Amino acid sequence: MRILISNDDGIQSKGINQLRMDLELDQENEIYVVAPDRERSATGHKITMHRPLRVKEWSYPDSKTRGWAVDGTPADCVKLGLEALLPGPPDLVISGINQGPNLGTDVLYSGTVSAAIEGTINGFPAIAVSLASWEFHDFSFSGKLVRELIAKLKGELSPHTLLNINLPPGPPRGIRVTRLGHRRYVNIFDKRTDPRGRVYFWMAGEPFDVDEDDPDTDVFAVKEGYASITPVHFDLTDYQYQDKLKKMVLKLESF
Ligand code: MN
Repeated sequence: MRILISNDDGIQSKGINQLRMDLELDQENEIYVVAPDRERSATGHKITMHRPLRVKEWSYPDSKTRGWAVDGTPADCVKLGLEALLPGPPDLVISGINQGPNLGTDVLYSGTVSAAIEGTINGFPAIAVSLASWEFHDFSFSGKLVRELIAKLKGELSPHTLLNINLPPGPPRGIRVTRLGHRRYVNIFDKRTDPRGRVYFWMAGEPFDVDEDDPDTDVFAVKEGYASITPVHFDLTDYQYQDKLKKMVLKLESF
């Protein structure tokens, strides 16, 4: 299997190296790492259009994996990998393993998930994987889950859908297939005054889960200690409302 790996924590991060090493255990895998040269968390689907992208080859001793560090975003990395660096189309794009959760509506801010979405936009199956903790740094369960999942789903992965995986800290109690929860943030801005008397704002805040009691959500599953897998696609169309809107708008008088 030819696999393109990216992330948003940067090419030197522990999570991406764990993922690479776990996937290297399967001799048939041909792995390419194209990842940001520094941390690019919470950059969403940002792309770099107004300056050139610089690429530096990254070597992995004792491994046939090839790597490139890019001074751009996760979406830039996947685009570059697909268009310019890989010798051919990949069978799979995997982003991660991210340090920290990518749950619910947070996927829209996530560089990790955006790298995977970039794969599906181009018609390749993709997986985003995150360890839903800032303090727990053991990525071994995450890497193992990805390996087993790929083996199980071989041939059944959809080129239009990415699998967004989040693992709790420690060994998961099991796996739940979930939907994205609805996350908002409270107390987002800390209003402060700088030494020159000017007001500034610092973004922080705590997540508030609108549907936190819904056992079908990814947020709930991870909170209960399960690994969560949510199938996600980039089509944000609200089909139900589209039907309703058609009926209303088609009756506008001047059009
Ligand atoms: Mn990150």
